[in-house]
Amino acid sequence: MSVNPDVLIIGGGVVGAACARQIALAGHQVCLIEPETVSGAAWRASAGILAAQIAAEQEDPLFHLGLAGREYYETTAGPLKDMTGIDIGVRLHGILSVAKDESAASVLKDRVAWQRQQGHLCDWLDRDELAEQCPWLSKAAGALLAPRDGSLDPLKLVEALRADAKRLGVTLAQDTITALTRSGDLITGARGKSIYSAAATIVAAGAWSGRLEGLPRPISVEPIRGQMLAFPWPQGVVEGIFLGTDIYMVPRNGEAICGSTMEHVGFQPVVTSEGIRGIEERARALCPALRGVASTRSWSGLRPGTPDGLPIIGAEPSVRGLWYATGHGRNGILLAGITALILDRLMAGEVLFEEVGAVRPERFWSR
Ligand SMILES: Cc1cc2nc3c(=O)[nH]c(=O)nc-3n(C[C@H](O)[C@H](O)[C@H](O)COP(=O)(O)OP(=O)(O)OC[C@H]3O[C@@H](n4cnc5c(N)ncnc54)[C@H](O)[C@@H]3O)c2cc1C
Repeated sequence: MSVNPDVLIIGGGVVGAACARQIALAGHQVCLIEPETVSGAAWRASAGILAAQIAAEQEDPLFHLGLAGREYYETTAGPLKDMTGIDIGVRLHGILSVAKDESAASVLKDRVAWQRQQGHLCDWLDRDELAEQCPWLSKAAGALLAPRDGSLDPLKLVEALRADAKRLGVTLAQDTITALTRSGDLITGARGKSIYSAAATIVAAGAWSGRLEGLPRPISVEPIRGQMLAFPWPQGVVEGIFLGTDIYMVPRNGEAICGSTMEHVGFQPVVTSEGIRGIEERARALCPALRGVASTRSWSGLRPGTPDGLPIIGAEPSVRGLWYATGHGRNGILLAGITALILDRLMAGEVLFEEVGAVRPERFWSR
């Protein structure tokens, strides 16, 4: 096994695996490091919603990245299936965001208006249209329909990205990195059970990114726990992705995947009775057909959160050889592919489009 690659990636979650594949496609020798046992990795817990439009605010720096992220999966799902045989389950059949009252409706109608003004498909269903099209949802003031948003299967995605990375020559190493290694102002690699040397090291360890020893300065990434549960998909409800107030339900493999919570409780990837009860109540309030149905399983994961809710993508400015692809919070499945494209281009020395400015590591620090 080569432990002297061109590029070392710490963390083989969705972001690290996407980066490994992309950088290998560009012809580099890559080593992707993932621990043998994982507890709390966000990709394993994720709902896999591709919410490029549904929740975007006007002037949101992630809006265009989100659209590009969604497009990445539209174009990459086919080649991934051809190369690995794994279907990542991209379904872009739309997402409905339901307004429980007139005040919520007003916010969503504004969102429809500015997105349409910018030429994006986005519709408003009024109270009666919603009741007619989705009679299984609770009565509501209307709903925003983002017809091109959707979902994928995050477990299949990571499996496919890793398999394709391997096919492209990426070394997959099982190890837990404890520290970066350094010589002067050059990051020379990282250390776990083995020592890995590389010209470039990428930190893609999700919520754990800031725990590595030897970082030139603290990274502003903290765990945000999300709890999830599954119901059998309720009878009589046509499959679709429905968002309500602090709740969503996504169809996958005969189940309704429901979530979530946003909890700042440190590194504790567990479920709580309070968290699960809250999700059950909100899901049943959104879709009364779930009232007679018991949830069958629950789980949780740790999102890598940043103070401004934006990821950290790019070079560490104070040393050479260190790059970040982390801090993707609630949208890391949507943004993993586009993150990999951006990082690959930045590492090749290219200057990228405007939106990338918002995710630069420098925004948190002055030199
Ligand atoms: C409940 C929940 C629901 C979500 N739903 C959605 C959704 O619907 N849509 C969406 O876009 N996003 C969603 N997200 C967010 C998304 O899952 C994350 O943003 C994304 O997984 C972040 O990817 P990552 O690779 O940076 O981190 P992770 O997915 O956490 O992966 C990090 C990897 O690094 C590894 N690692 C950690 N420490 C080390 C170390 N020391 N050495 C080596 N490897 C290490 C871990 O084992 C892990 O596999 C959700 C998250 C949660 C928790």
